[in-house]
Amino acid sequence: MNLPFSRTLCVCAAAATVVVMTATGVSAAAPSPSGAEAAAFAEAASPPVPMPANPQGMPAPTRPGNALDAFAGYQGQSACASTPSPGIVQLRALALQTYARGGTSPAYARSCASGGTSEHKDGRAWDWMLSYSNLADRKAAADFLSWLTGPGPSGVRGEMAARLGIMYVIFNHRSWSSYNREWSTYTGYDPHTSHIHISLSWNGARAHTSFWTGKVWATDYGPCQVFTSQPAVAPTNVARTQPCVGAVMSPRRSTLPFSWLGGGGDAVAVAQRSLRIPVTRLFDVATQRAVLQFQRNHDLPRTGALDKPTWASLQPASARLNVPDWTPREALAWAQGDAGSPTLHRASAGKSVYALQVALELPDQWRTGFFGRRTANTVIARQNAAGQTATSRVDSEFWSLLANR
Ligand SMILES: [Zn+2]
Repeated sequence: MNLPFSRTLCVCAAAATVVVMTATGVSAAAPSPSGAEAAAFAEAASPPVPMPANPQGMPAPTRPGNALDAFAGYQGQSACASTPSPGIVQLRALALQTYARGGTSPAYARSCASGGTSEHKDGRAWDWMLSYSNLADRKAAADFLSWLTGPGPSGVRGEMAARLGIMYVIFNHRSWSSYNREWSTYTGYDPHTSHIHISLSWNGARAHTSFWTGKVWATDYGPCQVFTSQPAVAPTNVARTQPCVGAVMSPRRSTLPFSWLGGGGDAVAVAQRSLRIPVTRLFDVATQRAVLQFQRNHDLPRTGALDKPTWASLQPASARLNVPDWTPREALAWAQGDAGSPTLHRASAGKSVYALQVALELPDQWRTGFFGRRTANTVIARQNAAGQTATSRVDSEFWSLLANR
């Protein structure tokens, strides 16, 4: 799979503040003068180091079966994690154990608040500090990369990359991806002569691949984005093997500024006061945890970010509507008329859910346009009171029930 946006990827360590993160509506700092996001991947090229024909490689912890994992397509970062994924932790440990080089490189996920789109932010990337200018480092890099991208035991080129769920690697002015499977010139801001950048697919990140488990797993699509121009939900350990339904516009926005892990300032202090946690002005892990809890309690997508829908519930005075300012009766009339009594359920999102929340006369903080626990419990209570089967599912019968009250 060769996706068109595969050219705008990553960019590691030193290359902070490069790509403006339009996917989440986050405006990064001033664009890099190098324009590194442009044409980071170019034409086919020689490998970054001469490749040994018979690399030692890394020992698989289990014996993979004959089935080979699908080569990963590009899965861009749009979520923020505070910890590295299991796949990164395991890969790092095994690489350092096997080659005993580059051990100063931490696995930790990086600040989500600076720089562009990067799997370092959602826990799927690791910078292995092997220097091209150091002979022993270079030999380790050559062995690893030859093993990873060359023919595997079954003769397939890049077999071990598939078995590990590698999305792409970058080293010494070259990149290799699972969707191109050849070395290309890398022209990003950082030439990657001080480290190998490794990005994993979501299967790779969860260590749900044949290298680690001996079996091939269903494709993991990673966390979903619920609202357009807002982040995807924070990653969990649960695989998602169904594609996301498309993101929709949030019914509410806010005048307060976006912030997430690594951010800070006055707005973060405002949020910390509202969340009743210590006011540090820094968006740290404790703040992310409190935001996630708030989102869970207020029917908001669990992004862990002070995104627009979250601000609208946390600071109602800052909220602005992207939908009409309905009375409950008007919301119901719209839902049963224009919207055709839509079927809604847990995790539904958008204008219809907002209309439902208004029609149910939920408190303002819960009118988020996202069908979470609060909305479900209220629906169940109404169904019980009316003697209907309590499913939390909203259908034409339930809309009629609300109308005939
Ligand atoms: Zn990197």
